[in-house]
Amino acid sequence: MTASTSTSAASSTNRDEAVPDADIVVIGAGVVGVACALELSRRGRKVLVIDRESPGMGASFGNAGHMATEQVFPVADASLLWRIPGMLMDSTGPLRLDWRYLPKAAPWFMRLMWNMRAEPARRATAGLRTLNEASLAAWQSLLNDIGQARLLKTDGSLLVHEKPDTAEELEGVAKRMQAQGVPVERFPRDKVLATAPELTEAIQGALFFPDTAHVTNPYRLVEALARAAEQHGARFVQGDVKTGRVRDDGVHLETSTGSVTASRVLVACGAHSAPLVAALSGLRVPLDTERGYHLMLPREPHRLPMAVTSLERRFIMTPMEKGLRLAGTVEFAGLKRAPNMERAWQLERLAQGMFRRPLDSKGATPWMGFRPSLPDSLPVIDQVGPGKRLWLAFGHHHLGLTQAAVTARLVGSFLNEGSTANSSKPTARALPSLEPYRLLRFA
Ligand SMILES: Cc1cc2nc3c(=O)[nH]c(=O)nc-3n(C[C@H](O)[C@H](O)[C@H](O)COP(=O)(O)OP(=O)(O)OC[C@H]3O[C@@H](n4cnc5c(N)ncnc54)[C@H](O)[C@@H]3O)c2cc1C
Repeated sequence: MTASTSTSAASSTNRDEAVPDADIVVIGAGVVGVACALELSRRGRKVLVIDRESPGMGASFGNAGHMATEQVFPVADASLLWRIPGMLMDSTGPLRLDWRYLPKAAPWFMRLMWNMRAEPARRATAGLRTLNEASLAAWQSLLNDIGQARLLKTDGSLLVHEKPDTAEELEGVAKRMQAQGVPVERFPRDKVLATAPELTEAIQGALFFPDTAHVTNPYRLVEALARAAEQHGARFVQGDVKTGRVRDDGVHLETSTGSVTASRVLVACGAHSAPLVAALSGLRVPLDTERGYHLMLPREPHRLPMAVTSLERRFIMTPMEKGLRLAGTVEFAGLKRAPNMERAWQLERLAQGMFRRPLDSKGATPWMGFRPSLPDSLPVIDQVGPGKRLWLAFGHHHLGLTQAAVTARLVGSFLNEGSTANSSKPTARALPSLEPYRLLRFA
């Protein structure tokens, strides 16, 4: 990858503190950080991106590639509460808690449940809907601008059901989504099978979401954004940012390879953001991770024409240039425990039942990644600290790919003196209000 240079943070360090290394240091080169780096460098700022790894190797590497604009409801859903104990017992089921992790996760779960009340759930839905409604257009415009529109397939997606007795549940989903303005079409069985002829005849029907899309290679997407950012002068260096200080006159960071100074810093470290926010601001963020898995079937790139989610089996299948990606599952086990790849292989067993011909799983590769999850299902997008020099863009949980381009626009709006981000004045690039995404909602 061109963006991943072997340059260390230290070698880019300017020892003369009077001349900062960058206008803005972006910590974290996932899809969120790199989209922000591109936006900021396109707007003429000197940007330095620091990541422990090369760009796109975190959660952004292995997501399901679904531009999930239809997902406007928070993860915390009171209607699912009664099902959770049973789900948690099953070690390869769609939802799992490693009981050893419970003491650490308990405060987060308490907040999650608190957010299931009607008013917080309404706020979260409104906040998600606002971002999601702007997401696809933001991606289309961004990818057109950098000549990468082909990475995005705007064919919509399907939510299918196989059992006659889940028809009511599916209809409930359709009604709730329509009530939120999500475009939904009901596909009877024949239409589903005409759209995706490889699916099993057991399929009963589906919801079709025309305003969704998928990317054909989430890693290559980040790579393309990074290359475009480099063309606008952004520099990418490898290093682990350990700590730092934000003062009235600038930012000082300590990395594994030296110190870095800048006028401002953006923390975009996904699920790893909380310790840096604490070090730089003293503020505690209730960020945890919902670990997710995928299994990539390299011999099956053409089985499906679009992303297909199973209502009953609770996972998604997305056609990609390097195969069929089976993805999903939520596991609460923190950032440190080794992955349980049996969960990824379980996706293959689930997927086999979805097709009329067996899937060829030779050469399949499993993967696990860390969704960055806040208990109200909304990301943090904000500018805080002395002189508002500490910028934040993390916590996009299941929707970081979907919301990265619109997040980058919001972060770009921090550059506008007297910010238009919260202006009610309509502009060509009207932006959502930042209020629902402020860090101080956790204070
Ligand atoms: C199985 C699965 C399926 C998913 N499917 C979808 C989907 O279909 N659609 C969707 O919209 N979203 C999906 N998501 C969620 C999405 O992938 C994430 O929300 C998104 O990738 C988060 O991006 P990020 O840039 O914030 O974090 P990341 O991609 O994790 O990037 C964070 C980066 O920060 C770096 N970093 C961390 N700490 C430091 C430090 N101290 N110093 C230097 N660097 C540091 C890491 O190395 C990493 O590269 C899925 C997630 C999973 C796990």
